[in-house]
Amino acid sequence: MTKSLSKPVTLFKSAGRALHPEDTVVQAGDVKIGGGNFAIIAGPCSVESDEQILEVAESVKKSGAQLLRGGAFKSRTSPYDFQGMRTEGMELLLKAKEAVGIPIVTEIISVDHLPLFEDVDVIQIGARNMQNVELLKAVGKTDKAVLLKRGMANTLEELLMSAEYIMSEGNEKVILCERGIRTFETYTRNTLDLSAVPALKEQTHLPVIVDPSHATGKASLVESMALAAAAAGADGLMIEVHNDPQNALSDGAQSLTPSQFDEVVKKVMKVREVIG
Ligand code: PEP
Ligand code: MN
Repeated sequence: MTKSLSKPVTLFKSAGRALHPEDTVVQAGDVKIGGGNFAIIAGPCSVESDEQILEVAESVKKSGAQLLRGGAFKSRTSPYDFQGMRTEGMELLLKAKEAVGIPIVTEIISVDHLPLFEDVDVIQIGARNMQNVELLKAVGKTDKAVLLKRGMANTLEELLMSAEYIMSEGNEKVILCERGIRTFETYTRNTLDLSAVPALKEQTHLPVIVDPSHATGKASLVESMALAAAAAGADGLMIEVHNDPQNALSDGAQSLTPSQFDEVVKKVMKVREVIG
């Protein structure tokens, strides 16, 4: 196993498997991720209204999602695109957490916003911030689970080094997320690097999940990639679900409807049974 490492095994002091052979199980609320515990995170790209987040939260929970996602602070490519409902979005997401009884995942884009994340179960570091070391160090000083997304042009080694930034501050609750990388292909929004799942898992004890929504950018491709990710040994999935994808304020093209999501969860569970 160690033969495939490009660098000495001590390179990843905290995240590396060499010094910590057992899988880490990250707990978020009452949900466990890793070490054989598979978790599905689902919800809209952005929190848009009280009704939207409540409706989606209820439906994804009923379909079997263990965690609700929803962006309040968005890191969009264009400053002219919807930037999220920000503080108000956080309030609506926390309200949905309470009303539906489901732990939540949401993205942080600034160290200054950390006090707003007190009741958030999993803090997401987005692809665009994977190497924002001040942000990594700040979440590393908290006791919150952190979902660290791979940057769109970052290697696995760089992703693991970003995990080290968080862990070296004392926070070992890190979940890694493959969300597609930039290649010459333009049909899909990104190219899903599925080999990242086994490649990461042989190097690290941390849970590894896959986001087939941002990886493909197309709702029609999400199911296949979700099934493939489960078959490849991922510890979970993050899938964008919207109650009205055509009118979504962000990422509608890649968002599943609640009923499409329900189908995907059923099939993913079948794949999980087959692979044991
Ligand atoms: C998101 O999860 O909505 C998001 C912005 O993803 P990424 O950081 O992977 O682009
Ligand atoms: Mn999105």
